[in-house]
Amino acid sequence: MLTDYHLHLRPDEEGTTAERCFTAENVERYLAAAAAVGIEELGVSEHVYRFRQALDLWRHPFWEGQARDDLDAYCAFVRDTPLKLGIECDFVPGAEDRTAELLEARDFDYVVGSVHFVGEKAVDHEGFDIWEGKGDPDEVWRRYFEALAKCARSGLFDILAHPDLVKVWGAARPLPERDPRAFYEPAVEAIAESGIAVEVSTAGLRKPAGEIYPSPAFAAMCADAGASFALSSDAHLPEHVGFAYDRALEFLAELGVAEVCVFEWRERRLEPLSARIEE
Ligand SMILES: [Zn+2]
Ligand SMILES: [Zn+2]
Repeated sequence: MLTDYHLHLRPDEEGTTAERCFTAENVERYLAAAAAVGIEELGVSEHVYRFRQALDLWRHPFWEGQARDDLDAYCAFVRDTPLKLGIECDFVPGAEDRTAELLEARDFDYVVGSVHFVGEKAVDHEGFDIWEGKGDPDEVWRRYFEALAKCARSGLFDILAHPDLVKVWGAARPLPERDPRAFYEPAVEAIAESGIAVEVSTAGLRKPAGEIYPSPAFAAMCADAGASFALSSDAHLPEHVGFAYDRALEFLAELGVAEVCVFEWRERRLEPLSARIEE
């Protein structure tokens, strides 16, 4: 079995409205792309901050500018398609109860938990760049992985998205000098204790980092701690569905991981990974 659970029908660019992207024709393009690379389970996980209801969780200026769609209309639309229904939801410290309320009120198959922001600043958004000003790499990485640990421990989410997103800019931002495993440690502990599935995301290969999320060392620590893994491309376009899955499968095989997490109505089971996808 191959899955691609973390994908977006709406690209990030302006003008990619729900009316244009949440259509049967667009879903058809993603399904065709998945079929072409042997992905059996395809699910969509639109960003929570695209929806007006997200403003109950956080009123960050970025979210205020983005939150236009109706979450229930999205859920109803996806339920009318063959796609699994997911959502990518940021972990907002202090808003755990409101987040639980928002998620539990809807019939998601799975929830992908993300950390994009540390405090008011983003690790992956130039508009709110955490690296502006001081940007001490030890401090940024420490705070990022502490937030990730809290995200895992919150119990709100099924899959931990792009687990070392902090590296997204690669050499274009400062990198810590010491062994990054010291930063991974608290997150690995939280992953092991919570049992959250760790996302292996090929999106990092399309970014300046040029590397799968998580890094091989981080992934090895998760595997040693007994973690289960989910597989995703974080596609924002049909042509990115199953992006570089040959690399992801090789990566998982090297970790000794032979099974992938499959979700339905927020229940998880493990299925054997396909050996390889057709070229
Ligand atoms: Zn994300
Ligand atoms: Zn995403």
